[in-house]
Amino acid sequence: MNNQKIRVGVLGFGGLGQAAARILQHKSEMCLVAVADQKGYAYNPKGLNPDVLIPTYHQQGSIGYLPEYGVSSNNSISDLISQGQVDGYFLALPNLPNTFMADVARQFISSGWRGVLVDALKRTSAVEQLLQLQTELSQGGITYLTGCGATPGLLTAAAAIAAQSFTEIHQVKITFGVGIANWEAYRATIREDIAHLPGFDVDKAKAMTDEEVEAFLDQTNGILTLENMEHADDIMLELAGICDRSQVSVGGVVDTRNSKKPLSTNVQITGRTFEGKISTHTFTLGDETSMAANVCGPAFGYLKTGIKLHQQNLHGLFTAAEVMPLFVR
Ligand code: NAD
Repeated sequence: MNNQKIRVGVLGFGGLGQAAARILQHKSEMCLVAVADQKGYAYNPKGLNPDVLIPTYHQQGSIGYLPEYGVSSNNSISDLISQGQVDGYFLALPNLPNTFMADVARQFISSGWRGVLVDALKRTSAVEQLLQLQTELSQGGITYLTGCGATPGLLTAAAAIAAQSFTEIHQVKITFGVGIANWEAYRATIREDIAHLPGFDVDKAKAMTDEEVEAFLDQTNGILTLENMEHADDIMLELAGICDRSQVSVGGVVDTRNSKKPLSTNVQITGRTFEGKISTHTFTLGDETSMAANVCGPAFGYLKTGIKLHQQNLHGLFTAAEVMPLFVR
């Protein structure tokens, strides 16, 4: 595989899945060969064209209708696993219910597929389910990198690097601002965010119809303000030995009616240096960078890392705070 392009599959073709396909158009080291949504999949070992995939998805509701390479299916993931020659998949799937991603991982394990999986999971309890699959992933020859989006992901990894200046970590505080013009472009993301609000949980948010989500957003003027979220940045930093999970907090503001970010996404790491000075490092994302750029970019960087680990027979579960993302050219 060394000098060949990495053959990439994207599972889930909503907001993030489509952005992922667009990003790969700019990459020469990776080639998009497989895509699945809830109603079908498309596979072409020579590469799939987002300029055809995306309009097909919007006009017909599934990439299963893609001329020549599309297949309609209610078991698109398992059908694709058995059909496709794919080195690594980005799982841009909703984690609804909260056990969904672990179920998908089990599907890969039981199929006997070997390769790299990368997700952009958000909840601590979802990452904990994957930790329980560590041995099975390892024995099955799967290198699984979890929490590889923006938060968790890019910001968690930045915290892991920033922590190195200190001998004692006091606090890691992540604050994100997301601006999207239209919530329907990211239905799962918005439902999963609503699930963090007081009075909601994952099952309640999953059960909401699109009309109910819209009515709810009307009440809040399209804004979601999130505090003390259950976010896996905490367990990832704990596993990386940086701090206790109770020292990590995540919150943010999502504007579902405006692509401008309501605030600048940042992570602040406070600690004490060996000289006894208390200080804070801050890493702030550029306001012009979208959620999609900050999630899918890292996901592919970690996918490239995963390919390297896999080639070295390093299998099992890794988090975005344990390994560095490589850069995909
Ligand atoms: P979306 O709702 O826009 O799209 C979901 C896609 O998954 C759709 O194409 C749907 O058809 C497909 N799908 C659903 N069930 C399926 C199944 N059983 N088999 C195959 N395909 C299936 O989702 P989105 O807004 O792009 O979000 C995707 C995930 O990314 C969410 O879980 C969200 O929380 C996560 N996310 C993570 C971060 C981060 O920084 N870590 C940021 C944003 C979003």
